[in-house]
Amino acid sequence: MSKARGGDPTSPRLSNDCFALPPGAHWTPVDEALAALRKALRPVAQVESLSIEALNGRFVAEEVIARRDHPATDNAAVDGYAFAHPGGRAEAVFELCEGRSAAGAPWSGALAANQAVRILTGGEMPEGADTVALQEDATVEGRQVRLLPPKNRGANRRRAGENIEVGAVVLKEGARVSPQAVAQLASAGLARVDVYRPLKVAIISTGDELAAPGSTRLDHQVIDANGPMLAALIQDLGAEVALSARVSDDRAALEATLDEAARKADAILTSGGASAGEEDHLSAALQEAAAREEGGFHLWRVAVKPGRPLAMGMWKGAPLFGLPGNPVAAFVCFAIFARPALTHLGGGAWTTPKGVLLPSGFNYPKKRGRREFLRVRLGEDGRLEKFRSEGSGLISGLLWSDGLADLPHEAGPLSEGDPVRFLSYTELGIRA
Ligand code: AMP
Ligand code: MG
Repeated sequence: MSKARGGDPTSPRLSNDCFALPPGAHWTPVDEALAALRKALRPVAQVESLSIEALNGRFVAEEVIARRDHPATDNAAVDGYAFAHPGGRAEAVFELCEGRSAAGAPWSGALAANQAVRILTGGEMPEGADTVALQEDATVEGRQVRLLPPKNRGANRRRAGENIEVGAVVLKEGARVSPQAVAQLASAGLARVDVYRPLKVAIISTGDELAAPGSTRLDHQVIDANGPMLAALIQDLGAEVALSARVSDDRAALEATLDEAARKADAILTSGGASAGEEDHLSAALQEAAAREEGGFHLWRVAVKPGRPLAMGMWKGAPLFGLPGNPVAAFVCFAIFARPALTHLGGGAWTTPKGVLLPSGFNYPKKRGRREFLRVRLGEDGRLEKFRSEGSGLISGLLWSDGLADLPHEAGPLSEGDPVRFLSYTELGIRA
């Protein structure tokens, strides 16, 4: 049975209105905004079939089912002697049969109750045997072997299918293939799997003040840090940078770049110009496209710090995430909103990062009614240390920290020793 899949030309496109937030709230709580994203988005990346060597890091496009049992047969977990456990733990003497069972070279005979045969790790259990005695617990005496039976019948025997059984689910749709998963896929008899192609993302930095990295004439300029940062974040997600551009605050230039981005990429990530000021050309362009019914625009006022409004929209069929210009706000908004959304567009299951509760090593005047993310790291005393400043332009704090403290929407001031939810960058899919 076939089903509509991401990238399938027959599957419906994302609607221009897919970034609408639930009405009512003036400042939407983070969790509500995330729930809206989760509901609206679905995979849009193309699907391809890849051989096992090329799967690492990809998202699987189907539920992957084991084609065979692993192990295929009952076999020995140690080197020793296979026999039928007589019950009891008394040392017993068995007739030693000729030959042996080794991995890939089974013994062809069948054992009677008083017989044993040499078996090596991975060797198939001979007919009639249910237990393997350790080599160290055996003494060969001519054509006999004296064995100390292990405590349990079935000891040192691996069961057919004990790792995975034919028909069992190896990976769910949307799982990211890890090296561990590659080993399980191979063992379960899979040589090729349908996976999503890397999501193609266009990255656009906006602002008259921006200069290319490496620029030396910097009279009134700011070096574009967001472009390279977002490109690196995209790569950590398993997506691909399809276009990387810097545009000045000029409507025609911006629209031309957005057009190119929509042609080349599955999704667009911008930074800067996302608020509602007179130099916020991105928001203005999206708003006009939405008014012409050629796109979509929602200015997301989310109750989160750092993070000014986000411009969320559709440009010529491509979902667009308009991040704030301040690098720290861009980073946090990427980690909290764009990261799960782009992962899902690229075929990954929707994920909610799992935090760990750790004691705070600082006091902080948290305001109720907004979620706050602080740059923190784990101190040697096992408590979280906070970066010296909440300044939204301090990239040094991103480098200093190894994750974010996630202070809940409803929480008030934080005192030293209070438990804090710590989201490591690794848990957020970001290399630290
Ligand atoms: P905006 O959101 O466009 O109002 O920008 C807010 C602040 O972020 C300004 O100080 C900008 O200079 C700075 N900024 C905007 N874009 C970038 C960028 N790509 N790299 C570094 N800083 C930026
Ligand atoms: Mg700007």
